[in-house]
Amino acid sequence: MIAVKNLQKAFGKLEILKGIDLTIEKGEVVVVIGPSGSGKSTFLRCLNLLEQPTGGEISFEGQSITDRKHNINVTREKMGMVFQQFNLFPHKTVLQNITLAPVKVKKQSSAEAEKVATDLLRTVGLEDKKDAYPSQLSGGQKQRIAIARALAMQPHVMLFDEPTSALDPEMVGEVLEVMKKLAEQGMTMVIVTHEMGFAREVGDRILFMDGGVIVEQGTPAEVFGSPKHARTRDFLSKVL
Ligand code: ADP
Ligand code: MG
Repeated sequence: MIAVKNLQKAFGKLEILKGIDLTIEKGEVVVVIGPSGSGKSTFLRCLNLLEQPTGGEISFEGQSITDRKHNINVTREKMGMVFQQFNLFPHKTVLQNITLAPVKVKKQSSAEAEKVATDLLRTVGLEDKKDAYPSQLSGGQKQRIAIARALAMQPHVMLFDEPTSALDPEMVGEVLEVMKKLAEQGMTMVIVTHEMGFAREVGDRILFMDGGVIVEQGTPAEVFGSPKHARTRDFLSKVL
């Protein structure tokens, strides 16, 4: 579904991504771990061109999206993204937050979008909040709405950048539970997280990034059970 070849990203002279090669299969759940500043967010943002790579190539479903001629807006609709900060529209209700893009961008009818939104609210366990405003929700609820909003566009892949890092500890579980459910339904997912228990349980593949490269990757059993590289061992010894 996604093929990344020698991806590079620099900000001025500062090289952040130093040549990343990766393929992601349909239905795969790839979890990216690594120390702060290693380039995890930059990598994720390059995947949907929120950051413009300075080198290399990314293709999505067989099309090069780094090609100048490619219309990235079409591809972005197929890539849902969930951030640490939920970025809900504060003056819109939950239902409006979820139906806005499907109506505006996908040209769905309001009735159709509302039906989809209602189903998604059930999926994330927040049917009763459809008329609430974001300020009336807890952090965990806001993040579950943000996930529902991304799903409303019927993305082919979901990108998550530390979706639980801004949450109070007691709310982390409810968000991870929703993500786990998505994984079980076969959604292709790329997830940056510090939740190692979740990574081990839900990830098909773990990528350990450090210094702008993928140092090591493998199944959770491989990476957590018998890490090959000293940098991976060092990182895991600090977080496990
Ligand atoms: P991570 O998500 O692993 O913590 P990031 O991808 O956010 O790492 O950042 C990697 C490095 O890139 C950091 O040193 C950060 O300061 C730098 N960086 C990220 N975005 C920018 C930017 N827009 N301009 C300059 N430097 C940036
Ligand atoms: Mg980050």
